Amino acid sequence: MSVSQPPARAQRARHSLKAERFTESVIREMTRLALAHNAINLAQGFPNFPAPAEIKRAAKEAIDRDVNQYAITWGAKSLRDAIVARVARTQGLTIDPEREITVCCGATEAMMSAMMAIINPGDEVVIFEPFYENYGPDAILSGATPRFVKLRPPDWTFDPAELAAAFSPATKAIILNTPNNPTGKVFTREELEAIRDLAVRYDAFVITDEIYESILYDGARHISPATLDGMRERTIVVNGLSKTYSVTGWRVGWCIAPPETTAAIRKVHDFLTVGAAAPMQEAGAVALGFPESYYEQLAAGYLARRNRLLGILENAGFHCFRPRGTYYIMTDISAFGFPDDVAFARHLVEKIGVAAVPGSSFYSNPADGRTHLRFAFCKTDETLEAAADRLSRLHRA
Ligand code: GLN
Repeated sequence: MSVSQPPARAQRARHSLKAERFTESVIREMTRLALAHNAINLAQGFPNFPAPAEIKRAAKEAIDRDVNQYAITWGAKSLRDAIVARVARTQGLTIDPEREITVCCGATEAMMSAMMAIINPGDEVVIFEPFYENYGPDAILSGATPRFVKLRPPDWTFDPAELAAAFSPATKAIILNTPNNPTGKVFTREELEAIRDLAVRYDAFVITDEIYESILYDGARHISPATLDGMRERTIVVNGLSKTYSVTGWRVGWCIAPPETTAAIRKVHDFLTVGAAAPMQEAGAVALGFPESYYEQLAAGYLARRNRLLGILENAGFHCFRPRGTYYIMTDISAFGFPDDVAFARHLVEKIGVAAVPGSSFYSNPADGRTHLRFAFCKTDETLEAAADRLSRLHRA
């Protein structure tokens, strides 16, 4: 390994100027507040029910087999092969496990490694907003300038002219999250084609976070941008075990990218983390081979929870944007007459005993999220029932 000299520094700051440009995660702060106030946590998106017995058994067996040392830095062969098989089944894509996959510590690291592998000073990245809050810091840490494009309620569609205006010769990539956190939007083929046309015209990457691909409702279909003509060579797919197998704390995710891009991602990943937890990767290989009935049950379970929380929130006076995917419901809180989302979220967690995520944390300009609040429904029936009870004490203005 060798490194070249950094450019001369103009001035010396005590801490990273990059780190000063973003705040702590609001989602995780809401979890801390929920614990402090003994509130029901409908803020952070993690299931509070058990992971499938088979995946837990596979992890325990892997430890007992002494899979306790580093896996290959870019991922255990068994997991890479299982990813290839599943992507072939779900998207009809042929992936080379030796040259096109990098297993990372969660989709979070996969996204960061991808960004650091492709961004140079002066590069811009187009980000749809509302966005999953990590993408802003991801852009800053990798050195990219973010350019935001609005997804507008009620359907969270974008204006093609606004998207086109965000692209320029400086555009290095667009970040897409479909199904989308926090809106529950699932991008359509037409929308993806419009994005594809711009990405091709400006020779930009499409980084697509597909972590919620198996959580879909109302006949929505997940289309990976990598399957569109002209996209395979410019798409970086980010995915992971967290949501599909209810193991958000295991931290196993991956990138799928063309060979030269994968080579760059693998180097960044190696020096960031060396590798994801080896026994969890073995368990992931087993999970990715679950029969289709597993995925049907997962989606059916979330459909029931979605419908239940929609009813609870609407009864309590929220206007809900009905999600077609993910396990979140974005709401409009105008009816409650609070000055903004943060004040309302605080009232909810402190006085009502329910934690949710203020909409402002999903926007570059916090004022744009002032009337929104996001609720997660990846929770047990008992938790949702208890939340219903507490939310019934809310009063409209
Ligand atoms: N993706 C989840 C959410 O949006 C969890 C975020 C996190 O804390 N990593 O709530």
